[in-house]
Amino acid sequence: MSSLIYLQGYPESLLAQVRTLIAQQRLGEVLQKRYPDSHNITNDKALYDYALEIKNQSLRNAPPLNKVLYDNKIKVMKHALGLHTSISRVQGSKLKARAEIRVATIFKQAPEAFLRMIVVHELAHIKEKDHNKAFYQLCCHMEPQYHQVEFDTRLWLTWREGRDEP
Ligand SMILES: [Zn+2]
Repeated sequence: MSSLIYLQGYPESLLAQVRTLIAQQRLGEVLQKRYPDSHNITNDKALYDYALEIKNQSLRNAPPLNKVLYDNKIKVMKHALGLHTSISRVQGSKLKARAEIRVATIFKQAPEAFLRMIVVHELAHIKEKDHNKAFYQLCCHMEPQYHQVEFDTRLWLTWREGRDEP
């Protein structure tokens, strides 16, 4: 039985449904139907512009975005869908906070909604380091369907991992 590593912490009743879909080999098809839209944000420049647009819409007063890039070294795991760092630097007399966001390269092939979710997640980390209530409020402010899309992204990762298996 699949241990569903991307879905740890979700209720067992939900996981049972996922296992059924996997057993019926229907998970990919269900996701494809629900998220038919792909994207063409396949380089770092496009990714930066994409993240900046979301930030300017909903997170204007957060520190400036310094860098946004795809990183093929990120292993996507339970609590690390992407990576964010904030560096504080002294510039003149001012302490400047600069934010950097890295997105796992596999999201180049993800439906647009999943890429957006991961960018929203990492943008929220600019203001909140931990996965606390304030953090998820920020996520939902930027993406009202955040929790559903995060779950479905984890489903997609689960499907990707299992699709080559016999
Ligand atoms: Zn996080």
